[in-house]
Amino acid sequence: MSRQDLLNFSFDELKAFCLNNDLPRFRATQIWRWMYCFGLQSFLEMNNISKSTRSFLNELSLISRPQISEIKESKDGTIKWLIKLKDGSEVETVYIPQEDRGTVCLSSQVGCTLNCSFCHTGTQALVRNLTSGEIIGQLMLVMDHLNDWPSGKNHRKVTNVVMMGMGEPLLNYDEVSKAIKIMMSDDGISLSRRRITLSTSGIIPNIDKTGAELGVNLAISLHAVNDKLRDTLVPINKKYNLKDLINSCRNYPNLSNSRRITWEYVMLKDINDSEEDANNLIKLIKGIPSKINLIPFNPWPGSFFETSSKNKIDNFAKILMDAGFASPIRKPRGQDIYAACGQLKSDTEKIRKSQINKLVPLHSF
Ligand code: SAH
Ligand code: SF4
Repeated sequence: MSRQDLLNFSFDELKAFCLNNDLPRFRATQIWRWMYCFGLQSFLEMNNISKSTRSFLNELSLISRPQISEIKESKDGTIKWLIKLKDGSEVETVYIPQEDRGTVCLSSQVGCTLNCSFCHTGTQALVRNLTSGEIIGQLMLVMDHLNDWPSGKNHRKVTNVVMMGMGEPLLNYDEVSKAIKIMMSDDGISLSRRRITLSTSGIIPNIDKTGAELGVNLAISLHAVNDKLRDTLVPINKKYNLKDLINSCRNYPNLSNSRRITWEYVMLKDINDSEEDANNLIKLIKGIPSKINLIPFNPWPGSFFETSSKNKIDNFAKILMDAGFASPIRKPRGQDIYAACGQLKSDTEKIRKSQINKLVPLHSF
């Protein structure tokens, strides 16, 4: 029998695993703390557990890390990991250091089925959901690299997590929510829900679920303020239109001035960057505690959009600010290593044909 990877377990599943193997329930608490407070990968170092139990656990199970294919470091300090999963497919994870925080950007799927026209990830043909272990594993790997254990220490390098890497997290809700609950667990990495942001193109039923079950910060990839344009930029809009999307955001729980919806708006030259667009945006989100992230379009090889000029972006931001909205212009990070928003795309297409069958294609919208 192959060893079970404990990284795939929720705390309750770890408890069940212990009970099934005649280990007392408190062993689960001990193992969990070693894994998520101290980042241990070896049972042999768990020195409050008897030696015989440690070797028993070692025969039965393992605590994995994703395999690293490549690490690239940008001149601005951003680090990007290309990660190889067990089936050979690849995803990317990014660490972005800033003055007051360090943010890890996690992937939730290999590729993405949603084909937003300006996004590199959306052009990747092969798609599958990541398991919760593969998602939390990305975070663990970054914390290993940055020597950020034990997880509660002062001056943590990883202070924030954003689900903004490859994939649409709300099309992989179960695994994403399991991983988020693990990173929020008090007895482990203990990240506050206020320091976790989930970005979605607008899968409405799961926005409601995220609000009810996780309560993390919500970011919406808006990019257009009318259905006609949004249908072409973010095609999932044909299924979940703007009116319903805005309504569901309005109802997102516990919104306040200190807990706002983030609207992501990629600035595309002559497409969505006019004064009229800015004014319509203000009307659309009126009354919702909001912050608008203006993202200069990051080009990628073969993309046919252009970035709006600096003047246009500044003007757009000013209109929003005059209407009372915080509207920071996002500085592209790690552009020299293709780690910026929308530039992530693995080389999965280069996988040998024999491996392709093992990838489960998702339903395409
Ligand atoms: N699938 C999710 C999360 C990943 S994308 C979503 O769409 O929200 C993270 C953010 O990068 C999204 O707002 C996305 O629209 C934006 N993005 C995608 N391609 C981009 C590009 N080429 N330039 C700038 N931002 C881009
Ligand atoms: Fe998928 Fe998000 Fe890219 Fe759209 S922007 S294709 S939803 S990853």
